[in-house]
Amino acid sequence: MKLHHLSLLLALPALACAAKAPNPPPPMPPFGLGIHGGAGVILRNEMTPGLEAQYRAKLAEALAAGYAVLDRGGPALDAVTAAINLLEDSPLFNAGKGAVLNADGICELDASIMNGRTLAAGAIAGVHHIKNPINLARDVMEKSAHVMLTGDGAEIFAQSLGYEMLPNEYFQTEFRRQQLEQARAAEKKPGRKTAALGRFLSSADVSALEHFVREQKYGTVGCVALDRQGNLAAGTSTGGMTNKKFGRVGDAPIIGAGTYASNATCAVSATGWGEFFIRASVAHDISAQMEYLGRSVREAAATTIAKVGKLGGDGGVIALDAKGNIAMEFNSPGMYRAAKISGLPETVAIYGDEARH
Ligand code: ASP
Repeated sequence: MKLHHLSLLLALPALACAAKAPNPPPPMPPFGLGIHGGAGVILRNEMTPGLEAQYRAKLAEALAAGYAVLDRGGPALDAVTAAINLLEDSPLFNAGKGAVLNADGICELDASIMNGRTLAAGAIAGVHHIKNPINLARDVMEKSAHVMLTGDGAEIFAQSLGYEMLPNEYFQTEFRRQQLEQARAAEKKPGRKTAALGRFLSSADVSALEHFVREQKYGTVGCVALDRQGNLAAGTSTGGMTNKKFGRVGDAPIIGAGTYASNATCAVSATGWGEFFIRASVAHDISAQMEYLGRSVREAAATTIAKVGKLGGDGGVIALDAKGNIAMEFNSPGMYRAAKISGLPETVAIYGDEARH
């Protein structure tokens, strides 16, 4: 072989390398989560700096716990339970410890969870002794043949799985006792019978009772998560509404109302006046708009919350799509909320004039 042929042969691998530019790393699929700690009349001038700092810190802590699960490649469902467990254990929110009191003066807890990959779902309503109701909802989904268990039956199921039964006093706080007293006093006021469900009321014409009801219903907690595998999940946990009677159940444990998740569309967790959120099928309504009308998650969430408002209800949702777009939409003055999507700055917000995505 002539020398110039040999040198050409030797140079070939180098030439090949030079011609083939190094492959850019494949784009990282987005992952992340959003959480809420309830919507309602949350106003700057009624909040002390100390309390506000506590809320923001707990939201940030729960967000970080859920994000850590996703960051290390864990499933969206685990991120949902990790974030919600921290909020359930905090007396600041109306879920787990610190839940509102029902008319009998005890805490009665509801929760639900949904897997967006399989459309499996689990829910519990009206339990009195379960420290972390979201975990039991998940066990209903994964370890029972059912979607929803209530009251004593749900707790018998929990006991069969080895759950500890806590005394109801564990959940009760002095703050919630005072709220119950206020609700009982407001209930005795004239005008009770005219409290209009199903009619839109401007803030100017709400009666004292209605104002009270609106003020009370915040603190429900929820989480929507998207994992590195592209799977969505959603969960919601609550004590419901102060002074609730007759085994009242709100939207939080109802799949399609308070919680919904489908990889094809989005994951949703709601908070607000449950009677309206059930009637508007809030969580599924958002998913359905995306599925059937091709709407974006933000457009769909805003449309559904506007619909709730027209019915006379108030509250909000967090909704996350499979591309990592998040909506935090509400028609109440505020909503405790936070979100962290990979590659984007973190949001922790409370008031209506702060970020909604
Ligand atoms: N949606 C809950 C319920 O009606 C209450 C809340 O979100 O604060 O039970």
